[in-house]
Amino acid sequence: MSSAVRLSALEKIESRTPVPVKPSESLETLWCENVFTLEKMKRALPKEVFKSVQRTIRENGKLDVGVANAVAQAMKEWATGKGALYYAHVFYPLTNLTAEKHDGFIAPQGDGSAINEFTGKLLVQGEPDGSSFPNGGLRSTFEARGYTAWDITSPAYLMETPNGLTLCIPTIFVSWTGEALDKKTPLLRSIAAMNRQAQRLLRLLGNTDVAPVNSSCGAEQEYFLIDNAFTARRSDLLLAGRTLFGAPSAKGQQFDDHYFGAIPERVQVFMQEVERELYKLGVPCKTRHNEVAPSQFEIAPVFEAANVATDHQQLIMTTLRATAKRHGFTCLLHEKPFAGINGSGKHVNWSVGNATQGNLLDPGNTPHDNVQFLLFCGAVIRGVHRFGPLLRSVIATAGNDHRLGANEAPPAIISIYLGSQLEDVFNQIRQGDLKGSSSAGVMEFGVDTLPPLQKDAGDRNRTSPFAFTGNRFEFRAVGSNQSVAGPLVAMNTILADALQWVADELERLIQAGKPLNEAAFEVLRQVMNEHGNVIFGGDGYSSEWHRMAVEERGLENLRTSAQALPVLERPEIAELFERQGVLSRVELQSRYEVYAEQYILAIEVEAKLALRIARTQIAPAVQAALGDMASSLAERKAAGLATDSRLADRIAALEGEMLNQIDALERALGQAPHGSAAHMGHCADVLLPTMLQLRQAVDALEPLVDDSLWPLPTYQEMLFVR
Ligand code: ADP
Ligand code: MG
Repeated sequence: MSSAVRLSALEKIESRTPVPVKPSESLETLWCENVFTLEKMKRALPKEVFKSVQRTIRENGKLDVGVANAVAQAMKEWATGKGALYYAHVFYPLTNLTAEKHDGFIAPQGDGSAINEFTGKLLVQGEPDGSSFPNGGLRSTFEARGYTAWDITSPAYLMETPNGLTLCIPTIFVSWTGEALDKKTPLLRSIAAMNRQAQRLLRLLGNTDVAPVNSSCGAEQEYFLIDNAFTARRSDLLLAGRTLFGAPSAKGQQFDDHYFGAIPERVQVFMQEVERELYKLGVPCKTRHNEVAPSQFEIAPVFEAANVATDHQQLIMTTLRATAKRHGFTCLLHEKPFAGINGSGKHVNWSVGNATQGNLLDPGNTPHDNVQFLLFCGAVIRGVHRFGPLLRSVIATAGNDHRLGANEAPPAIISIYLGSQLEDVFNQIRQGDLKGSSSAGVMEFGVDTLPPLQKDAGDRNRTSPFAFTGNRFEFRAVGSNQSVAGPLVAMNTILADALQWVADELERLIQAGKPLNEAAFEVLRQVMNEHGNVIFGGDGYSSEWHRMAVEERGLENLRTSAQALPVLERPEIAELFERQGVLSRVELQSRYEVYAEQYILAIEVEAKLALRIARTQIAPAVQAALGDMASSLAERKAAGLATDSRLADRIAALEGEMLNQIDALERALGQAPHGSAAHMGHCADVLLPTMLQLRQAVDALEPLVDDSLWPLPTYQEMLFVR
């Protein structure tokens, strides 16, 4: 009887048809239809005003009041012309989500009438009530209000929201005392820091025309699509984003037939609409294909400036979720929705470059380009070695812990993969073979060009968390559910710091009379001597690497977020962020508190859900099954038929184990220690293992209990029915 729930889900899905495809429009019509682009601004504004906007963007300056008023006017006319009634300052709190404060354009007048109002002041600054956003103790409630300010480098756009069409203005979110309460503020600061040091180095290398250096990002997003008739019947998926119970499906991903396989029709229609919506918002999505696991897919935009790419990443996640709903799916962005099959990550492709020197992580074709490239690459090596634990901590979430090091994603040990050719070049530098001066058969550094480097296809070493892929690095350990801002802030900041050191050293050597090439060579040798240990081209999944990394290379293996998040409290991390002007000590401390709290919350919610599902759904089903079996055994006995209670005995034994673990979990939930670090440790070392033991008992019961009684949609149904 209880399976009525499951049956109704299956019936619902059987009668589904794909949502009709919207009439196809040309890319030109769709592209940026809902974005207030610079192009549109140019057309709407007087020449001088537009020039002033451009200057503000280029110089990262403050918008003049008069200019802001003109821009606001033009923006409002464009938005209301398209039917927008509301505007919203969009900001990015520390939750990985996007937040909005909506206001009407309408302003009531004293005489009872109303006019459409939107001034430069309203465009540039807003005052959301920030008290409900996590701030890690930065604000006490009496001064809870923070303010938002337009990030003029990211364009405004129109979004269809429950309020109707809304003009969305991307903003930073800071407290009245100026502390960052969001993810955008430090990102902008980290880009500025990297720009300062990169420019210094570029000038030292003899470049005279040096444009501002920006960082770029292209993030590949993996996700699962599950029919929402199933998710509606699974409170774990609904509230925690992952299944807390579920025996493996007889058919998992072992056939590898899903990867790049045919995309089911309903999914294709969904993807089409996602792309359509994103094109309208100016998000340049490109690839789509099936991922490794059944019902898993990927969407990847073409790379953009890190700041815009980050806002667009948030839009991608929002659009995936909202569109899925319209198509009868739930889009799961959790890093590990299903045990036993691949989880979802977000590869963050990252580079730095400018308009005059181009992509600085591209080896280039001339000796000068090569030296420049090797110095930037060397700076990355130094940064990643010195601050590997920081890179681990910015990807530390309860969800991502399930995937890191689980033989599907890179391990929690942060190392760099360079590819064999480039690794070889750096090793020769370390050994001093690549000569500063010419000798037979040996390449002359800074005079000869490097051999063209093979582009890494990206798949060649999937086991590395941080891989060079020909003209960029790919941070592969980022979680699918995360904002890319945190990882980008960390990468930009450690690069800024390493570039500062490189520039200092070069300056020192040049002042001591060394020619530039010899000085560069010496700096790179020093990088390799001190930091070469972080380079690893082998199998990152192997147990040999796990041993070697820690014992021989001195790298850290921070397996859980409970170990990784406290890195943010280390003095050298506070010094790094302070030195580069990216986060003050209080800002960093508040981040640690917020992330620790989120980790604890996530796991405690899961534990409570597990208890509830086990008690109110699984236990009654098991009792019903045992009851049915007992009466059928009694009937057979009365009829003089043979009886066999083996199955019933096994179920009863597992039921006992389940009830024991329920008790243990409830006890553990009540024993949380004080203090963030200890509390996180309790979650990682007590709650999660107990939940796992409870799960093992339940999952063992699932294939034994009468299928018509089992209350939860099964893995097989969720992953293969659509
Ligand atoms: P793979 O699956 O092999 O890792 P994809 O082609 O799916 O590679 O994705 C590569 C991502 O890297 C894309 O988003 C692409 O735009 C991005 N990318 C390419 N060049 C750069 C660059 N210079 N900086 C940042 N991202 C880049
Ligand atoms: Mg990739």
